[in-house]
Amino acid sequence: MVKNLAIIDTYLKSYPHYSEFLAIVKDVFMLRQKTAPWHKENIFSLETAAAVERLSEGKSLVDISRDTFNPVLPRQYFLDLLKITKQPPAEDLRDKLLTGELNYETLVRESSTAYRATHITGEEDDEVYDLLDFLLQESMHPFFALLSEEFKGLVANSEWSRGRCPVCGRETALSFLSSEEEGRRYLFCSQCGLEWPVKRLKCPFCGNEEQKQLGFFTVGDDEKYRVDFCHQCKKYIKTIDTRKISGEVDLEVENLITLHLDILARQEGYF
Ligand SMILES: [Zn+2]
Ligand SMILES: [Zn+2]
Repeated sequence: MVKNLAIIDTYLKSYPHYSEFLAIVKDVFMLRQKTAPWHKENIFSLETAAAVERLSEGKSLVDISRDTFNPVLPRQYFLDLLKITKQPPAEDLRDKLLTGELNYETLVRESSTAYRATHITGEEDDEVYDLLDFLLQESMHPFFALLSEEFKGLVANSEWSRGRCPVCGRETALSFLSSEEEGRRYLFCSQCGLEWPVKRLKCPFCGNEEQKQLGFFTVGDDEKYRVDFCHQCKKYIKTIDTRKISGEVDLEVENLITLHLDILARQEGYF
């Protein structure tokens, strides 16, 4: 899907404290667009029958921690992505991948099991740290997006309502209330771009519907964003009320400019 890059300039104006990060995000999206022609390969070789079976068993189409995939194209994309940031840890990581000291597939597999892959930089610098994780996730994005596009009809029929993405298996961090369907709630996967509808008052992670066990908080008087949490499983999810946003919304960017909400939620003990 072609992204409207001009929208990032709009976000830059509204969120000046994210300007440095958004500049990188813009470079990333530009590179994604530029390299789009060679992102057309299905690196997972998943057949429809297998996809149907997996969904019926409650499994995502791909489980990156176990399934094999052809790493050639995403690895090349990752090497190019790492050139966007001039920070030494990115250059160091690039060198290690090129010399074979680190293996791209292993990095991808391990990042799928932990939100943060500690060995990527080996440093405590959170900013650099998240950035490399973000670039690693991005390296797989076009390939997962292709899969998501191919199987979205199948996924819709499966009535999937979990908090984990039915296509790529990543746990979602973001939900939104639709402006077109009277605030119907959808979950959004930043790894493959899939959106799927869920019940509004239910924890998508543990299925808890006990209203007393569910809560949310907002920051200041900003009603556009809130953090929904569940007392039962201690998980949280950011929710955007798109009815309260005028103009175009880019959910990928929204997920990135709400990192302060992730920090607050974790400080409150949710994960
Ligand atoms: Zn996904
Ligand atoms: Zn829960």
